[in-house]
Amino acid sequence: MATKILDFIDGQWTDAKASDLLDVVNPAKGAAMAEVVMTPQAVVAQAVEAGHAAYREWRQVPVTDRVQYLFRLKMLMEEHLDEIARIITNECGKTYGESAAEMRRGIENIETAIGAPILMQGYNNEDIARGIDEHMFRQPLGVTAAITPFNFPGMIPLWFLPYAVVTGNAFILKPSEKVPMTSAKLFELIEQAGFPKGVIQLVNGSKETVDALLDHPLVRAVSFVGSTPVARYIYSRATANGKRAQCQGGAKNPVIIMPDADMDTATKIMADSAFGCAGQRCLAASVAITVGSARNIFTEQIADAAVSRKVGYGLDDGVQMGPVITPESKTRIEGIIANSQQQGINVLVDGRNQLVSGYDDGYWVFPTILEGVPPQSDVAKTEIFGPVLSLMYAETIDDAIELVNDRSYGNMACIFTSSGSAARKFRNEADAGNVGVNIGVAAPMAFYPFSGWNESFFGDLHGQGRHGVEFYTQTKVVIERWPKEWSRQF
Ligand code: NAD
Repeated sequence: MATKILDFIDGQWTDAKASDLLDVVNPAKGAAMAEVVMTPQAVVAQAVEAGHAAYREWRQVPVTDRVQYLFRLKMLMEEHLDEIARIITNECGKTYGESAAEMRRGIENIETAIGAPILMQGYNNEDIARGIDEHMFRQPLGVTAAITPFNFPGMIPLWFLPYAVVTGNAFILKPSEKVPMTSAKLFELIEQAGFPKGVIQLVNGSKETVDALLDHPLVRAVSFVGSTPVARYIYSRATANGKRAQCQGGAKNPVIIMPDADMDTATKIMADSAFGCAGQRCLAASVAITVGSARNIFTEQIADAAVSRKVGYGLDDGVQMGPVITPESKTRIEGIIANSQQQGINVLVDGRNQLVSGYDDGYWVFPTILEGVPPQSDVAKTEIFGPVLSLMYAETIDDAIELVNDRSYGNMACIFTSSGSAARKFRNEADAGNVGVNIGVAAPMAFYPFSGWNESFFGDLHGQGRHGVEFYTQTKVVIERWPKEWSRQF
């Protein structure tokens, strides 16, 4: 019988007895490894109520004690990093190196949240009027929830979980139903770290489970990461129900290559950005805009890098890129390439119809390069979420920045140049919240906000760092008067 991935509710591994079960598939092998429950609304309600009861106790635990649980969780995650990385590779497809690197970024968020005794501090003034003092405290909200995508099953839940619990909230994770095994392992470690029951809970499922969280009145805040249409939906429904929401959406990330860039470095970094994680990264470079004479040399070098990338099962030696997540994803990406070709775009490197020896049932799309993509074409605007890089051309940096800003998303934009003034101009004018200068994946460290803009983000406070602490706390302002004459005389 297939392993069943369960929920973790009120300190117990719980079988939601759902009528719906989904297979969890290794995308390199096309083979099912487990099945996951689709938690129904009534069971989600039990989790929320257990979370609320736990929160009432947990918020009274001093923050200096709450951080001790995170110290323990960090140590457990360090000890189990190899095991978790293998699980990520098996259910998500990325290479072992990419999985281990993702876990490092996740653990970094636990380390940052451990700074809560300082991060949660308020501020105050004595004598705002004679004998009257004013203070601002940060207090937790109650039950909080996060809904996360398939592409970083280890890291993205940790963009939220540590900040939510360290500030005194209860937290419920609804991971992607495509990759629930990583969360199941994470929750084994959460159980070992000894968090009080109900403080951190796991409910598996998809839309019905999410809607139950969005509609439950005791859920006070919702964090989401995923595609833009779902981000918009979740933001609307959560806020209509009076909840705080921060919803990170999709992306289409442009990168400018100036003629004065160090071309070898730029090409290597661009290949890693566009084809790393099989392009299934919200910070993947998706459009390369060469300026002037950068065009010929960059085109030649990036094509070489694309064809020489070793694609395969991420636990095999030397593999640099894994499969895409599902057969539907493969069909969708190949369809976008075919449509582009029909619209007259040259497929300079074609990653369709490729096989990996020994893995005939894997969902393979090899690195692909589309040459001379018109700015108004469908492919120039569409998030592909696969290993496909589009090449565009500009004559000046101003034209290139105009192309960068001519899109609805705003997750990331980068430039490769050796000119300080070009870099500075770009930094100032790029219409994106995460900007890289001679960087291919401008992923903010845990102590900076993950700053998507435009259609890549709905909300105001982003995930991670100080924003995370602010999102999960509400400010309380206290104004106090204590006249001397009211005090008992001793
Ligand atoms: P997705 O939007 O399909 O799913 C994300 C989550 O939402 C999953 O947990 C899923 O179960 C749930 N969900 C899906 N449809 C739903 C619906 N109709 N109602 C309620 N819940 C629903 O995204 P995905 O395919 O898992 O992940 C890829 C997407 O995530 C890409 O668009 C990528 O750019 C984006 N992403 C963004 C960031 C960021 O920081 N901005 C980071 C990683 C991924």
